[in-house]
Amino acid sequence: MSDDLQSPSMMEKGKNLAKFSWQLINYIQQNHEKVLVVEDETYKERIMVCRDCDKYREVQNECAECGCYLPAKARIILDSCPLGKWGAKEDDWDEKFNNIMEEIDSQNHKNHN
Ligand code: SF4
Repeated sequence: MSDDLQSPSMMEKGKNLAKFSWQLINYIQQNHEKVLVVEDETYKERIMVCRDCDKYREVQNECAECGCYLPAKARIILDSCPLGKWGAKEDDWDEKFNNIMEEIDSQNHKNHN
């Protein structure tokens, strides 16, 4: 390592962060069904817990604690039960996030070649 290496200016850092954020938002927007939702098995497990819960409102298919529509809530990878009966799938999200980073890197390489 060398102390002679210079960090990018604040302006460059800001531009790099903005570019990365833009790429990430675009990627997620274009692939939201792939990256933001859980697998069917997890979805079914979550719904089964909700159906056994005293906060489950069957007619509305809602949670009386948070008011969320459960078929949508139970699909979201980072969503969780407000009473802690089921949690966010953070491990799955970490894996998906790493895959997103790899795909964005690969797109950047293609664009530079
Ligand atoms: S999200 Fe939690 S509190 Fe709400 S119905 Fe499901 S298990 Fe019950």
